[in-house]
Amino acid sequence: MTNLNFDIITLFPKAFDLINNSGVITRALEKNRFNLNLHDLREYGEGSYKQVDDKPYGGGSGMVLKPEPIYKAHDSINKLPNTKTLLMTPQGKVLKQPDLLRWSSLDQLIIICGQYEGFDERVRCLADEEVSIGDYVLSGGEIPAITIINGLTRLLPGTLGDPGSLIDESHNSYLLEYPHYTRPQIFQGMRVPDILVSGNHEEIKLWRKQKMFERTLDRRNDLIFKEDYKKLPKSKRIKEDSNEMMKFRIGNGYDIHRLVKGRNLIIGGVKLQHPDDLGLDGHSDADVLSHSIMDALLGALSLGDIGKYFPPTDKKWKNVDSLFLLSKVIELIRKQGWEVNNIDSVIVAERPKINPFVELMKNNICKILQIEDSLIGIKATTNEKLGPEGREEGISCHSVVLLEKKE
Ligand code: SAH
Repeated sequence: MTNLNFDIITLFPKAFDLINNSGVITRALEKNRFNLNLHDLREYGEGSYKQVDDKPYGGGSGMVLKPEPIYKAHDSINKLPNTKTLLMTPQGKVLKQPDLLRWSSLDQLIIICGQYEGFDERVRCLADEEVSIGDYVLSGGEIPAITIINGLTRLLPGTLGDPGSLIDESHNSYLLEYPHYTRPQIFQGMRVPDILVSGNHEEIKLWRKQKMFERTLDRRNDLIFKEDYKKLPKSKRIKEDSNEMMKFRIGNGYDIHRLVKGRNLIIGGVKLQHPDDLGLDGHSDADVLSHSIMDALLGALSLGDIGKYFPPTDKKWKNVDSLFLLSKVIELIRKQGWEVNNIDSVIVAERPKINPFVELMKNNICKILQIEDSLIGIKATTNEKLGPEGREEGISCHSVVLLEKKE
């Protein structure tokens, strides 16, 4: 039984010889999975010269296909109950895999191929849909029509050897397909991933799913984020999965400590001198800069705050050097597979002047985090005598951190 009839209106029927020489498509034609009827536009041409084109009204270069031959050719085609007429034009809607799926259940597709400068505008009335195969201009509609025939027939039942090969395919689920390998296992030093030869089918399934997300994010993240994708029922699951693959996480940290007598004033590991001999109060050395960076680092991975890891109730942390705590936090971050992309901090203090010491602070933090100094920005500001910092009741610090997932 024939599943689908293509009726093609073209000036170059010979172009469709390609279909007689193209593997599965030719086999499908031989097996009568589809029918290909070519309608030579020339036969419907006007006058003894069988004229099909003419100069455009209003002038301009090139020739335009006349409407009468196309209408005649279209009229001559016996219409089946479930039929659509497609007009090939670079001005049409760009062809997507779901279009092919949609048309695969039709009885008949009539395809009109343009040539030269195109066709008389009134030809558009014949079309149910205007289709472009991409944002570029070809010389005729034959290759676009063959593209549609090719893409469509491989979807017809019985055309492909293994119907399963259609399911995971690129553009079927808005995800690109996972990478394929076949023998040999090592080719020019390039190995087939171990997982594929492990025989563990569950693991292979997971690996493939993972690769589909990775590939799509890397190459075509426009597919993942496009609106209609979000409308899919499985969007929630996919959104979560793609979050897992997110390469960046951002965190923010804030800390404030009181200024009191009899304490050291340590910021970013640098010991400062306050004009009134004030220092920062706290269980540890109360280094607000290190603390806010630690909170930002932990926050970026939703790991809580420093109080959770170094509770003030624990004697171990009494007067501890906060740079040491910072070294512990960065260890934790790296263990989870993340790296610092950059840090931006601002210290809010009325006195003493912080700016002369910023470079020293930067050096200390970079050494502990083992990052280049270009990755960290430290700024200082007064609070214009406003609020607790302005009244010199305390010194505070805000930090923002961007973490990047290591490959
Ligand atoms: N002057 C026309 C293009 C004519 S190209 C314009 O600017 O719109 C000649 C014919 O080739 C078209 O009528 C159309 O049938 C076909 N064609 C060219 N590029 C195409 C594309 N990207 N998709 C579908 N058909 C195309």
